[in-house]
Amino acid sequence: MERIASFTINHLLLEPGVYVSRKDYAGEEVLTTFDLRFTTPNKEPVMSTAEVHTIEHLGATFLRNHPTMKERVVYFGPMGCRTGFYMILHGDYESKEVVSLVKEMCEFIVSFEGEIPGATPVECGNYSDQNLTMAKYWANRYLENTLKNIDENHLVYPK
Ligand SMILES: [Zn+2]
Repeated sequence: MERIASFTINHLLLEPGVYVSRKDYAGEEVLTTFDLRFTTPNKEPVMSTAEVHTIEHLGATFLRNHPTMKERVVYFGPMGCRTGFYMILHGDYESKEVVSLVKEMCEFIVSFEGEIPGATPVECGNYSDQNLTMAKYWANRYLENTLKNIDENHLVYPK
């Protein structure tokens, strides 16, 4: 079998950032996949599943309610390696065009209080596996260390 495109990126060179990893074409339509890389692969501890799960619930809720972007949101969910998340938007985008959206999402998570949306046994397959405190920690870290003052090296994958 062919090695898929996402495995051809050298993960030893990667740092946290906002990267376009794919553009898929369906007729005239374009879907842009972003890798929202929260931690440095293979060099830093990965996020635990509970906080990844909480970020998934809160991030998806935020994006799918966004006043100007909700119609563009195709998908938001975790990478299996737990170093970040995928966000897929309907449209042809560059990373720098979505930095403010991702910042807003992180600010929403950092300031979130109350019941996590969708965290009930009817709505979720593992509803009690949540960690809001650590979700806030990772969202804040990504916001402060990566998204604020982000430069080109953290917006485009190294060749
Ligand atoms: Zn869930």
